[in-house]
Formats: sequence, structure tokens, C-alpha cells
Amino acid sequence: MADVTKVLLDESEIPTAWYNLVPDLPAPPPPPLHPGTLEPVGPDDLAPLFPPDLIAQEVTSERYVDIPGEVLDVYKLWRPTPLYRARRLEKALDTPARIYFKYEGTSPAGSHKPNTAVPQAYYNAKAGVRKLTTETGAGQWGSALALATSMFGLECEVWQVRASYDQKPYRRLMMETWGATVHPSPSNLTEAGRAILEADPDSTGSLGIAISEAVEVAAKNPDTNYSLGSVLNHVLMHQTIIGEEALIQLEKIGEQPDVLIGCTGGGSNFGGLAFPFLREKLAGRMDPVIRCVEPAACPSLTKGVYAYDFGDTAGMTPLLKMHTLGHDFVPDPIHAGGLRYHGMAPLISHVYELGLVEAEAIGQVECFERAVQFARSEGIIPAPEPTHAIASAAREAIAARESGEEKVILTALCGHGHFDMAAYDAFLRGELVDYEYPEEKVAEALEKIPAVGV
Ligand SMILES: *Cc1c(COP(=O)(O)O)cnc(C)c1O
Repeated sequence: MADVTKVLLDESEIPTAWYNLVPDLPAPPPPPLHPGTLEPVGPDDLAPLFPPDLIAQEVTSERYVDIPGEVLDVYKLWRPTPLYRARRLEKALDTPARIYFKYEGTSPAGSHKPNTAVPQAYYNAKAGVRKLTTETGAGQWGSALALATSMFGLECEVWQVRASYDQKPYRRLMMETWGATVHPSPSNLTEAGRAILEADPDSTGSLGIAISEAVEVAAKNPDTNYSLGSVLNHVLMHQTIIGEEALIQLEKIGEQPDVLIGCTGGGSNFGGLAFPFLREKLAGRMDPVIRCVEPAACPSLTKGVYAYDFGDTAGMTPLLKMHTLGHDFVPDPIHAGGLRYHGMAPLISHVYELGLVEAEAIGQVECFERAVQFARSEGIIPAPEPTHAIASAAREAIAARESGEEKVILTALCGHGHFDMAAYDAFLRGELVDYEYPEEKVAEALEKIPAVGV
């Protein structure tokens, strides 16, 4: 049976299409709206920011989209990625559960993010775009896009959230090594950044602010496009290569998950692993419980409202129907920078509303306790974001010990933590704290959600 430590696939077994969940859903997700007209956005509204192929993928009704050969050639530098059985962690948790994790930290940037950065750079290069702008929180997305643009001959300009820019010089240096230009955000290079700095010269920034800056520059320059690392349909679709590979890997060892768990910031690594399994579930071929895990300090799914809101702080993006804490909510400085986003992917929000997935919020201290246990048993030091999935998997494994159930747990280890050692430093010194759920701050931010009577 599943008597393995890891399951590797051959280069020839790499999936050659991305999966689009939308046509398989019982109801389509609500469309993005133009903030002025409140009409669904059309291709022309998106054309200043995205190339035609990505706009088409954002709204496609095809179930599968072929991965271009040029993209597959780059994917093959690190894909297929390994699926591990966490035998030593199972032992440490004294559980009858079998725990599997799909590891995306083998990419050059150290996370799942290049799975979408590479096709985004490819389609922009194909459309004759010269430069891409973007934001980055923890630095993972900026690194991934810097890597991808360097491979397709594009320039790359990144606004890195100030707190992360100051704390993580090595992430910035990775981006610069791949040829990108990096600014701390808020910056005085944009109207959005200057407005924030005027109100608060010491602002440590947020993803929402950094998105505003990157969008502004792309919107103003005809040869420049914007690139988003999560949230949008096409991003989640590119990430489904993770789940498609995992399905093949589990099939090889005759396993099916009873529980599938992923961390959710904007929802891309979770959607990437979960959507192909959700397809199987909707078709009646398996029946896993599918769970999103988010930080207690930024709990958009479990505590946010399901409403139309902006994707950025300055209000320059289309309105997205999503679980949101309010577009100008600035979360507490937890270490999982990639999970500090006020909203959730509309597609994840939609499947949550449909009851197809569940959600849980966990504080960072428990997450780091489980991260250190994971590192000491499995060896890999996880990025702070997937420690949320690991903590939830550990809760599940302990429940299985108590009930004696032989559960199969599948989780996404979406990145390594080699550039996040300051977080481990804080934990190991006993200085890591949990933040209370910021009820007042959220209430204040929710008041500023645009009134859309849909
Ligand atoms: C960016 C990032 C996340 C959060 O983004 P999602 O779109 O929710 O996946 C989580 N983990 C890692 C390692 C990241 O780099």
C-alpha cells in the first residue's frame, strides 16, 4: 500500500493542461464589476493591465486550457514536484492517520508562485509588453515574477510592503539578482503611495497599498502591464498543476484523501491543490473534506463579510465579490506575510458559500509550534504561511489518534521558510505573540466597503 516516503513523477508525466473549476460548479461565481458603472467588467476594462490571453483565461468556460510548450519547458526545471508521506511526523504525533504533503518549495523562488508567474510572463512577452509591475508582501511573489520575467526578457518593477522590505533584505536581493527593480511601499513614486505617506509617514504598508501602486504605474504606461500573484481566476487555474500532479501521485500508491487542507491568503495554493480534487468530489469519485486555513489575525473567510469590495486600498481595481475584511484594513504584523490580505479569491469565496469547502482560523503561536515539530521530524523548514495548514493537519491527526481512525490527510506545503528565519527567531526566543482578532479595526474598515446592491 502506501509504504512510501515520497512519490516522484517522471518529466514525461507532467500534466499538459490547467483545470478550470468554473464549468463544473452548480452555479457560476458572481462577475467582477466596474466600480463606476457597476456593470460586469469586459475585456476592454482589463486591457490596460493584462494581455489578451490572460483576459480570455479569466473568463473562459473551457474546462481545460493547454499549457504552452514554452511554459512547460520552464516548469520542467523543477516540476513535477514531490509528494511526501510524513511518516516521521505521524510518529511524532502518535497518530494512525497517514499524512501526505505536496511540496512546492523546490521551485527556484521557493514556493508555488512561479507556477503562475511563468505563464503570466510568457503571455505578456507574447503580447509585446515590455515591463511588468507588481506588489509583494512576504517577497515570494516578487521573487517568482522576477524569476519568470528574467526568463522571457521582460523588465520587472516590484513594490514590496515596507515592513517586509526592511525585514527581508535577502528576498529583495533575490529579486534584484533576477534583474528586478524593487521599491518599498508606500513609495513616493505614485499618487497612491504619496497619499498614504502624507497621512502616515511611518506607514509599514500593506498588500492593498502595494497593489494600488503597481496598478497605477501599469495603467499609466502603455508598454507596461500589471501582474497579480493570487486571487484572480487565471492565477488559481495556473496553480491547478499542483493538484493534477498530486492526483496522479496518490493514484500510483492507491490512496485517496479523507481530508485536504491548505492555507489561504488570496487562495491560489489552496485552489491549486484543491480544485482538481473538488472536480473528483463533484463527480462522485471521492469525497474528501476540503478545508481552508487562515490566520486568526486576518480571518477573511471565517470573520469577513461576503460582499463586493476593491482588491486594493486606493480603490483602483474592479469590484470583486469576495469575503473581505474591508479594502483599507491593515492586519497586524504576523509573520505569515503572504496571508495578510484583506480579501479572498472570488472563486474560493464562492465555493465556500456553496458549502463545498470549510474554513478555520488559527493563531500564529500554534502554527510555529507545529512548524518546529515538522522541521524536526520531516527536515523541511516551512514558510510561515503553510504552517497554518500544518497546524490544522496536526489537529486532524490528533483527533484521529483519539478516535482511532486511519484517516488520509493531504496538505499543501507551498513553500520553504529559508528567508523567514526572523519569524523562527522570534518563536525560538519566546517572543512570538498571538494577536487578538481586531474586531474594531475590521468594523471600521467594513464601513468603507462600497455599497453595491447586488
Ligand atoms: C503567497 C504565498 C501564500 C499565500 O497566497 P495564496 O494565494 O493564498 O497561496 C502562501 N504561502 C506561500 C509560501 C506564499 O508564497
